[in-house]
Amino acid sequence: MKVYNTLSGKKEEFIPVEENKVKMYVCGPTVYNFIHIGNARPYIVFDAVRRYFEYKGYDVNYVQNFTDVDDKIIKKANEEGITAAEVAERYINETLKDADGLNVKRATTHPRVTNEIDGIIEMIQTLIDKEAAYEVNGTVYYNTQNFDEYGKLSKKNQEDLEAGARIAVNEDKRHPMDFVLWKPKKEGEPAWSSPWSDGRPGWHIECSVMAKRYLGEEIDIHAGGEDLVFPHHENEIAQSEAANGKAFAKYWMHNRFLNIENKKMSKSEGNFYTARQVAEEFGYDAIRMFMLSAHYRSPINFSRELMESASNSLDRIQTGVFNIKHVIEHTEIEKMTENEELRKATVEGLVKKFEEAMDDDFNTADAIAAIFELIRFSNTEITGDVSKTYAEFLLDRITTLSDVLGLKVEKEEELLDEDIEKLIEERQQARKDRNFARADEIRDELKAKGILLEDTREGVRFKRI
Ligand code: AMP
Ligand code: ZN
Repeated sequence: MKVYNTLSGKKEEFIPVEENKVKMYVCGPTVYNFIHIGNARPYIVFDAVRRYFEYKGYDVNYVQNFTDVDDKIIKKANEEGITAAEVAERYINETLKDADGLNVKRATTHPRVTNEIDGIIEMIQTLIDKEAAYEVNGTVYYNTQNFDEYGKLSKKNQEDLEAGARIAVNEDKRHPMDFVLWKPKKEGEPAWSSPWSDGRPGWHIECSVMAKRYLGEEIDIHAGGEDLVFPHHENEIAQSEAANGKAFAKYWMHNRFLNIENKKMSKSEGNFYTARQVAEEFGYDAIRMFMLSAHYRSPINFSRELMESASNSLDRIQTGVFNIKHVIEHTEIEKMTENEELRKATVEGLVKKFEEAMDDDFNTADAIAAIFELIRFSNTEITGDVSKTYAEFLLDRITTLSDVLGLKVEKEEELLDEDIEKLIEERQQARKDRNFARADEIRDELKAKGILLEDTREGVRFKRI
């Protein structure tokens, strides 16, 4: 199995730190808003990576953090007149709702920064003791001059780094590249006491600490979007390797960015979409299909046409599966015939093709192509007389491979009118009981399935969109 490693700039054979185990850390979101459609990419691709390792028999320990204290969270909290913790809690829930919708498995652990402050203080202290960090007026900085290999991940040389860092010269720093590990609080900010000041951690240190606590000092895979290579991951390497005295992650994986109609997504350009908005229009399953139809190291372009085409592709698989199930229910031939027995080899050949694609740095685009070939083959196979056992064999292979990619082979069942009426009644009752959370949840669930509720004088009406 080959994995492209940003650290070496090459595809490398995957050899785990511990036999049969994969220790994997994927940087998670800063929770101050709904995740956008670009954020959905690392969620989906690294979930597919995890699922493939599991398919190959590895025991995967998958850690993804939530950054639940940060300037943007505090700003939002102040705007809304609530606490940073309340903002974080709200968007952790919303993020998990989207992740569930996208069929992203929950991580083995989802640690949150605010629960890890003791460990963070401990690692900063270790770095100070090793002269890899220093304190000035309550702020602790990482001492990049003490880490010879600084720049090894992003391949930046000393000159590039200095040119970039000079923009933000800070008197207290010994060197422009040094970065903050701990900062004193400003008025109105959440803070924790530490040997240096009442304050909070800088961003990078959290991941070094959480990776160590939940996975150990040496991990297999560290992943995230390409923007994280520098400075975030470069700084994580500096912190972890200086503190632990060991190589940190063996393989660094980075997904390229998603653009919108060939432009960078941005609020000011007016081309910013949350994952939720896209799901309301096309469904979560189509988003997943769209993301995996490109290799994670190619840029991907989001457009309405491509989403529609992803939706149709998924439909082809689902229709294929539906037809096989129909045959299984209706055929009168029980046992596999000799001829069918022979044709199993074609199917196994396509399974192999799928595996070869995934073994080649998780080429999900080619893996999906192998599933389509399997569907095409199956569609022709089941037109004539087919045994139940053979049809079951086809179904098993298609569902197993689709599941490795987290693609759902069952069509989402449409809600019947009477189901909707029942939910509306439940919502009315919830409102009477002043259980507004449940009432909103029902409205959102229906909305996600394309059903809009309208409160009218005659009562609640619904319409399908
Ligand atoms: P953030 O909350 O901005 O730190 O982003 C969470 C994750 O989404 C990180 O792994 C980012 O690298 C990734 N990410 C952000 N924007 C995009 C984008 N447009 N395309 C793909 N990945 C992205
Ligand atoms: Zn991180």
